[in-house]
Amino acid sequence: MRTIEHWIAGKHVTGAGMRRGSVYDPATGQVQAEVVLAEPADVAAATGAAAEAFPAWAATSVTARSRLMFRLRDLLERYEDDLAAVVSSEHGKVLDDARGEVVRGREVVEFACGIPQLLKGEYSDSVSTGVDSYSFRQPLGVVAGITPFNFPIMVPLWMHPVAIACGNTFVLKPSERDPGASDLVAELYAEAGLPEGVFNVVHGDKVAVDAVLASPDVSAVSFVGSTPIARYVHGRASATGKRVQALGGAKNHAVVMPDADLDLAADHLVAAGYGSAGQRCMAISAVVAVGPAADVLVAKLAERTKEIRVAPGSEPGAQMGPVVTAEAKERVSRYVAEGEAAGAAVVVDGRGLEVPGHPGGFFIGPTLLDGVTPDMSVYTDEIFGPVLSVLRVPSLASALDLVNANPYGNGTAVFTSSGEVARTFQRQVSVGMIGINVPIPVPMAFHSFGGWKDSLFGDHHVHGPEGVRFYTQAKVVTSRWPHVAEESLAQLNFPTSR
Ligand code: NAD
Repeated sequence: MRTIEHWIAGKHVTGAGMRRGSVYDPATGQVQAEVVLAEPADVAAATGAAAEAFPAWAATSVTARSRLMFRLRDLLERYEDDLAAVVSSEHGKVLDDARGEVVRGREVVEFACGIPQLLKGEYSDSVSTGVDSYSFRQPLGVVAGITPFNFPIMVPLWMHPVAIACGNTFVLKPSERDPGASDLVAELYAEAGLPEGVFNVVHGDKVAVDAVLASPDVSAVSFVGSTPIARYVHGRASATGKRVQALGGAKNHAVVMPDADLDLAADHLVAAGYGSAGQRCMAISAVVAVGPAADVLVAKLAERTKEIRVAPGSEPGAQMGPVVTAEAKERVSRYVAEGEAAGAAVVVDGRGLEVPGHPGGFFIGPTLLDGVTPDMSVYTDEIFGPVLSVLRVPSLASALDLVNANPYGNGTAVFTSSGEVARTFQRQVSVGMIGINVPIPVPMAFHSFGGWKDSLFGDHHVHGPEGVRFYTQAKVVTSRWPHVAEESLAQLNFPTSR
């Protein structure tokens, strides 16, 4: 059985721990590898290596750090197919989707290539007679990233290129369910010439996470995952004095107005609801149909939902793969049953789907529910599977009330042909990322990604300008170079400009 190991100080290591986790092929249901699960000693080895590497890396010129990112960017392009294949085989998503994740992650490296421009400080000449003032930003030290299973390459890439380009060293604790891609990325960093200890990977579960949160070596933590764990990580990391950004779960609504192009809306909602088997933090899971849009829209969604080709991610022509684990499949089925029992209409039922030749795979077909109400568990909970729930409301105002009453605030979309509706929606909705006739409004790498309310704890979004601010701290210098013969202006009262 293949073993996926830690990457510490530039080497694959098995570590001190004896515990192992199973890495499945979700399309067959078979275990394809085992992953080492870190004990606190392994985390200490990784954070120690990162702490040792920090002074030299922070002193490396910003142009040299930028050139490293250019080389990494080229390697990520050269090995795109290999990375996508690992992601698809451990996560289950179809190959083209996995490739898209690699590309979106690589775009953050492209952003980080511009680090000399991003770290330019500010200079004020002559703030007082003979006195200048300037500010610049410095790295924090060792920073850690703790990431979820659903984007095993893209979400870590939201973090480490920006952190490392800023001059920090990094310890990544990826999801133990699909850990393979992180070791490949570590090898690419080494091939790009990154010094040992600047990027480290420790695999593991809660034991590893708790050791990272308690580590005196770690200055800041970036977390992405479910809301209960995000809340926990934010609390624990803050209590030990670390800077922390913790992105949580989601329940993303798409509001469809009667004036929208309903064919376009249906095409995009099906793609956004069922792509990656609904396992995206920006997936649409609640469709809010306004007034007369509902009947026509549900018919169009049903037609398209039935046509989706569910197959193993590696199979040509597959549009949707399995969900990640047997537990995930069971959870999604349970929610559909609860929705049905509570009175929702199961318009398309994905339960019981069989994919020929793959009886043990974690497959569940795309499922469409109509007549869902805000009290049902299919609406209150994040299902994280291929289920689209349609809620019917009479007006834009009631749609906004519904979206704003939801505790999550990650992404949302409005489908409309009215600029006035779009403007009202974008100004009044309490959500961090908004799409106008765009169902999955994931910001480009040069903007920042982040939700509101229970979808993010902390005050910085990831990557883009907010990522640079998160991974650096500001210094302001006030300087005077007096001529020896100049009269001293020292006074005991508080200095003011002259
Ligand atoms: P998860 O919260 O179970 O796991 C995330 C990370 O936390 C993993 O590395 C895991 O090992 C660790 N972890 C799990 N349980 C822990 C515990 N009890 N104590 C300490 N650490 C623990 O999330 P997941 O199932 O891997 O990913 C899916 C979730 O992530 C969904 O809720 C999804 O919405 C969310 N997500 C959010 C975003 C975003 O940008 N807001 C992006 C991607 C995924």
